[in-house]
Amino acid sequence: MSQNFDAIIIGTGQAGPSLAARFSAAGMTVAIIERHKFGGTCVNTGCVPTKTMVASAYAAHVARRGAEYGFEVKGDVCVNMKRVKARKDEISGQSRRGVEEWLRGLKNCTVIQGHARFQSPRTVVVNDEVLEAGKIFINVGGRASVPAILGIHDVSFLTNSSMMDIDSLPEHLVIVGGGYVGLEFAQMYRRFGSEVTIIEMGPRLIGREDEDVSQAVREILEMEGVRIRLNAKCISLAKREGRISVGVDCEEGPPEIIGTHVLLAVGRTPNTSDLGLDRAGVVTNQRGYITVDDQLQTNVPGIWALGDCNGRGAFTHTSYNDYEIVADNLFNADHRRVSDRIQAYALYTDPPLGRCGMTDAEIRKSGRAALAVKYPMSKVSRAVEKGETQGFIKITVDAETKQIMGAAILGTGGDEVVHVLLDVMYAKAPYTVVQRAMHIHPTVSEYLPTVLSQLRPFA
Ligand SMILES: Cc1cc2nc3c(=O)[nH]c(=O)nc-3n(C[C@H](O)[C@H](O)[C@H](O)COP(=O)(O)OP(=O)(O)OC[C@H]3O[C@@H](n4cnc5c(N)ncnc54)[C@H](O)[C@@H]3O)c2cc1C
Repeated sequence: MSQNFDAIIIGTGQAGPSLAARFSAAGMTVAIIERHKFGGTCVNTGCVPTKTMVASAYAAHVARRGAEYGFEVKGDVCVNMKRVKARKDEISGQSRRGVEEWLRGLKNCTVIQGHARFQSPRTVVVNDEVLEAGKIFINVGGRASVPAILGIHDVSFLTNSSMMDIDSLPEHLVIVGGGYVGLEFAQMYRRFGSEVTIIEMGPRLIGREDEDVSQAVREILEMEGVRIRLNAKCISLAKREGRISVGVDCEEGPPEIIGTHVLLAVGRTPNTSDLGLDRAGVVTNQRGYITVDDQLQTNVPGIWALGDCNGRGAFTHTSYNDYEIVADNLFNADHRRVSDRIQAYALYTDPPLGRCGMTDAEIRKSGRAALAVKYPMSKVSRAVEKGETQGFIKITVDAETKQIMGAAILGTGGDEVVHVLLDVMYAKAPYTVVQRAMHIHPTVSEYLPTVLSQLRPFA
């Protein structure tokens, strides 16, 4: 016997719960299944806890700079990791409980805890119960990749998930991977007081960003004492007298780094291998991401994939936007598409990097005639007043249409300011709209009109 629903949702990440609420509001029956913690990665091991810890690290950093701002801290600034963790657990826990209570309070919504697996294109099995629906939505997210590094099974290593249980200060944290996740943990733990080394296989950090952005972020981290080893080939792990040796074959520097803890931050793997997708006939690509069309439907009619597991985005906002696209297509006959969205994200180092649209490399590849400007944060009065002048504002516009093609704002408030440009991009309006706007003083955004009046041909 199977239980019948109008919809089944697998996973309570950033798309599933809102979609469940939409079905509920429409008076339809929905079952939502979660095998671990309500709220998924963002709430439990991703955005929420890390940004909470970034805030603790920022406070410690500012306290150490007290003399610059005119106050004294008696003695050293010592971080109490138990209290940092307790604050993080409280905030993350509130979010998790909020998601669960919300779902359990929805009309016509059945919340099931357990691992879901397809039995057929219309049925899913959880805890030996068979559920059936004409519409099934997969929102299973991903987990930290664990690559087949030599010695990986001989040592204990950390991932973004197990980092959440740490309540003492690692003496020397070695981070394998110089991407977004690795850099956030690197700066945060350096500010907590750990020695930190980043090991990156590529020739630069955050390799998808423009070279000047990578270089500036590197300088910011190095200035705080984070050690960085690039071009690390043949990474290996081994136990060494109660510590962990990370072997590297770098062009410069010693061949091994001895740390007390190793964090693997080398990318994500979608949670799709244990879903029984073959029984439903749902196709994935070689890396396990579920193949979807522009409206997030899989190759099997009646099955959609939303969030990180479809490989079309790797952020909370892309997953939530997936929900909006699917819901508007189903409930409002509003034919929204993934290809309508503009790339946008932030790196939460301090100062943060706010990014939207194309990188310089992508613009060059496009062959389009462009105008560009780069403006140092040291000339932005709000940044000077705050004592946070690292970074720059970089904007590129199409020479013909005058529309903004891309921007990188590395600097105080960069994660917020970038939205001024992003919204103009969505409006398909020319940059002159921003250039002629009167912005509030003193803000970083007030400089955008000034910056945009200094556009030059893109080199
Ligand atoms: C350290 C870190 C920091 C991050 N910071 C940011 C940030 O600042 N901003 C940002 O936008 N993004 C950030 N991200 C990315 C963001 O967390 C993810 O993009 C987002 O959580 C993806 O959500 P999702 O909806 O795809 O699924 P997830 O949030 O991953 O949730 C999927 C859920 O499905 C459940 N599940 C899986 N398989 C099954 C199954 N078979 N049966 C039942 N349940 C199942 C899982 O238990 C999980 O709860 C960060 C990620 C990490 C790792």
